[in-house]
Amino acid sequence: MLPYGRQSISDDDVAAVAEVLRSDWLTTGPAVTRFEDDLAAVAGNPAAVVTSGTAALHVAYAAAGVGPGQDVVVAPLTFVATASSAALHGANVIFADVSEDTGNLDPAAVEAALTPGTTVVAGVDYAGHPIDADPLRSLAHDAGAVLLEDAAHSIGGHWHGRPVGDLADLTTLSFFPTKNLTTAEGGAVVSPRADLLARARTFRNIGLVRDKAVQRFPDEGPWHQEVHEFGLNYRLPDLLAALGSSQLRRLGAFRARRAEIHTRYDAALADVAEVRTPVTRDGAEPAWHLYPLRVLDGRRRQLFEFLRERGIGVQVNYVPVYWHPVFADLGYRRGLCPNAETYYSQQLSLPLFPDLTDADVDRVADLVREFFGYPV
Ligand SMILES: *Cc1c(COP(=O)(O)O)cnc(C)c1O
Repeated sequence: MLPYGRQSISDDDVAAVAEVLRSDWLTTGPAVTRFEDDLAAVAGNPAAVVTSGTAALHVAYAAAGVGPGQDVVVAPLTFVATASSAALHGANVIFADVSEDTGNLDPAAVEAALTPGTTVVAGVDYAGHPIDADPLRSLAHDAGAVLLEDAAHSIGGHWHGRPVGDLADLTTLSFFPTKNLTTAEGGAVVSPRADLLARARTFRNIGLVRDKAVQRFPDEGPWHQEVHEFGLNYRLPDLLAALGSSQLRRLGAFRARRAEIHTRYDAALADVAEVRTPVTRDGAEPAWHLYPLRVLDGRRRQLFEFLRERGIGVQVNYVPVYWHPVFADLGYRRGLCPNAETYYSQQLSLPLFPDLTDADVDRVADLVREFFGYPV
């Protein structure tokens, strides 16, 4: 089965991990600092690495001070973690609909969803296309909230010349194997705000405070560390950080190859009236993680099964978050965000990863054409 996403591991990646295995540090050593510096260079702001994209979201909401009863406005066309990690802090999740073309959070819908209790607006760079950051940032700030960008799909992307990582108050990344670069499991929080990043670092390290200047009991002894706010252990091991730094060196090549494949699918499917190929807004330089094809004739499921039966590992990204039973049980009803639901009903992710060959791409596109009765 041709997968829809797959890591690309080089001999350099293997050597980088092996080197750490033979060193004094397996976790939180020099490779973590190096990876954070390398990420900051790409993302335009300081980074704190953590154990997953989900952990990054949990940490980012903690850094923003999200707590019980506060409102968090979230995009529904995403992996469940964008919303569930806020719910775990006791937040009241309010879903705002997406734009029908990009599938990204719609500023007008956010404006209508904001409340006096909103502390975070969380958008998602769906498929790798950056959010409409400028209006979203203004709306969030005018409401006294921070803008969080779930950039699990989009490291290396740009919006009007600014890198993903420099568009929002908090940006979260994922380094899961199918994403644009991998550390096996891993993620990061990026922020231009020193206060938010400091809180993120503390939460990731169990809440431990080592700085004598801010300790309540600094005279306890030189060994003393104390906890002021609860946190968790979300520390990324040195082993994985070394893999991350090694992978980052190929991010430009990964991004270029992913863009090439996108263009090849676009061209191969341009005359198929039953589908819509992905949209790129003016000013966006996406870092494509997905190729989200839209099936317009109601036969998404049939096409999914047709391709799977022929060894093509297509996926659907994503079921609207509030359709998950955990949200349905809280009273969220279908129909809440019509654009997200329509997008979901049409969406099919075609295989996309750097090591995919042109012949693979052509085979997938030809099967799509065959399904709809077009010549190949
Ligand atoms: C993958 C993903 C996450 C979670 O990342 P993990 O590293 O798998 O925990 C969060 N949000 C989005 C949009 C994702 O695609």
